[in-house]
Amino acid sequence: MTLEFIRPETLPESLEVLDRYGDRATILAGGLIITLMMQQKLIMPEVLVSLAHVPHLTEVRQEADGLHLGPMATIRDIAHSSLVQQVLPVLSRTYHQVGNIRVRSQATIGGNIAEADYASDAPTLLLALNAVLTVADAGGSRVIPLSDFYLGFFSTVLQPGEVITDILIPTLSPGTRTTYIKYRSRSSEDRPCVGVATIAEWDGDTCSRLRVAVGSASEIPVRLPAVENLAQGQSLTDELIADIAEGYAAQIDTLDDLRGSAWYRTQMIRVHVKQALMEVRDGAG
Ligand SMILES: Cc1cc2nc3c(=O)[nH]c(=O)nc-3n(C[C@H](O)[C@H](O)[C@H](O)COP(=O)(O)OP(=O)(O)OC[C@H]3O[C@@H](n4cnc5c(N)ncnc54)[C@H](O)[C@@H]3O)c2cc1C
Repeated sequence: MTLEFIRPETLPESLEVLDRYGDRATILAGGLIITLMMQQKLIMPEVLVSLAHVPHLTEVRQEADGLHLGPMATIRDIAHSSLVQQVLPVLSRTYHQVGNIRVRSQATIGGNIAEADYASDAPTLLLALNAVLTVADAGGSRVIPLSDFYLGFFSTVLQPGEVITDILIPTLSPGTRTTYIKYRSRSSEDRPCVGVATIAEWDGDTCSRLRVAVGSASEIPVRLPAVENLAQGQSLTDELIADIAEGYAAQIDTLDDLRGSAWYRTQMIRVHVKQALMEVRDGAG
């Protein structure tokens, strides 16, 4: 079978091409995962539609509703963006921890989200940040909160022909403390065994709102609102932190792989949720 390679130069043209070929076409972003999957014959697209020449898809800008990121920005672009470092340093630090410099220079942030590999960093943080995706197809566009995006390993709500065109991170209230902890079990360049993102808003010494997302431990990143709410209006004492960490360890259905057994991941969730909460309490995050 021959493989056709198409490089549209506008977004409407990309959407038209994707509509025309339906599920015979695959979107190509940085191409790292697509090429690996094609080499292993896990996918055999007839048409690759590259978004590399579509204008504006690499833009990063701050607007009234928050930080807008273009999906074709590379992970390195965002890690090094002075705007991101100024507005949301935790995002820059998180992207700095992805793989190695070769991966960060090639992989795109949209590809990282759409890939839906549980062993990823940014989706966990983006879930805690209440990120919202805009996706478009030939018929129009729709908005999808990241919390509704993932269905399972390598599975999302994206339909054939749909392209992520924007990633919005709503503005955090002043004084919000944030952290992302990446726990690697094998090498310093590896994907995460467990990732924990924590966003804490404060009213003096009292936590007014807490969001904790745990990723890479189960098929999709997880937030547990009932456990998060334990912190609302409370001081984050060591006892409360231990209870929240226990809630996450007890309720996440962990998976087994080369990076750690299900039992081990449960222990690592307990340890790293505790650490993340101490960081946002003590101002280290
Ligand atoms: C050696 C190695 C180490 C890595 N380490 C880490 C790590 O530590 N942490 C981490 O988080 N990730 C890691 N990754 C994954 C990497 O960050 C990206 O997730 C991955 O490369 C996919 O991005 P891409 O731009 O290459 O996407 P591609 O391979 O081009 O595409 C991936 C999938 O996303 C779809 N897609 C791409 N863009 C869009 C879009 N705009 N709209 C809709 N669908 C789209 C494609 O059709 C395809 O299905 C690693 C990857 C490698 C190869």
